[in-house]
Amino acid sequence: MSIAQRLQHILTTIPDTVTLVAVSKTKPIEAIQEAYDAGQRIFGENKIQEMAEKYEQLPKDIKWHMIGHLQSNKVKYMAHFVDLIHGVDSFKTLKEINKQAKKHNRTIHCLLQAKIAQEETKFGLPFSEIRDILSSDELKELTNVKIDGLMGMASFTADSIQVQKEFDSIHSLFVELNTEDAPLTTLSIGMSGDYQLAITSGSTMIRVGSAIFGAR
Ligand SMILES: *Cc1c(COP(=O)(O)O)cnc(C)c1O
Repeated sequence: MSIAQRLQHILTTIPDTVTLVAVSKTKPIEAIQEAYDAGQRIFGENKIQEMAEKYEQLPKDIKWHMIGHLQSNKVKYMAHFVDLIHGVDSFKTLKEINKQAKKHNRTIHCLLQAKIAQEETKFGLPFSEIRDILSSDELKELTNVKIDGLMGMASFTADSIQVQKEFDSIHSLFVELNTEDAPLTTLSIGMSGDYQLAITSGSTMIRVGSAIFGAR
């Protein structure tokens, strides 16, 4: 199957209410252009410099999502164009994003990454710290960032009951935090191997790479 066919296949199997982020990390410009020509406009990358280079070379109506772990000192390289930052896992990073967004007179949309996997290696904030950040007065001072919701990565396991449990836990947190005063729009869970499961757990945004572009 071609990239366009794989994209089409995924789009026909997910609800209209779920946004597809095509994860193009490590893939060449030509592959992204092929997905673009098939109508895809949202792409995800996990390295800031790689994303910035691709931004320069590709059509400007692409929405670029940063899905990887963030280094504060590199936020400045994407502050002028990034559409959504998924992997925010500290208040310090949020402050840096705010500072860089201000320089460009923009508001940068962010998701807080929640730790839901059992594995030590997965990044993310404990639920208690997410609650603390969202209710803090310091957050109100960050006028150039907007927290749209949460992002999570499930354990890398074939045990779908475990994965479902982890998705359900972040969905409960999302429901708890999604108040009338501070509505949240986005729950970013689900990748190539588990996006169907994530959608049954309430995902509103899936990040799919290899199922579109092939193995990396
Ligand atoms: C690479 C990556 C994905 C996509 O993974 P696939 O299994 O190729 O779909 C999704 N989210 C994050 C954070 C990633 O780093």
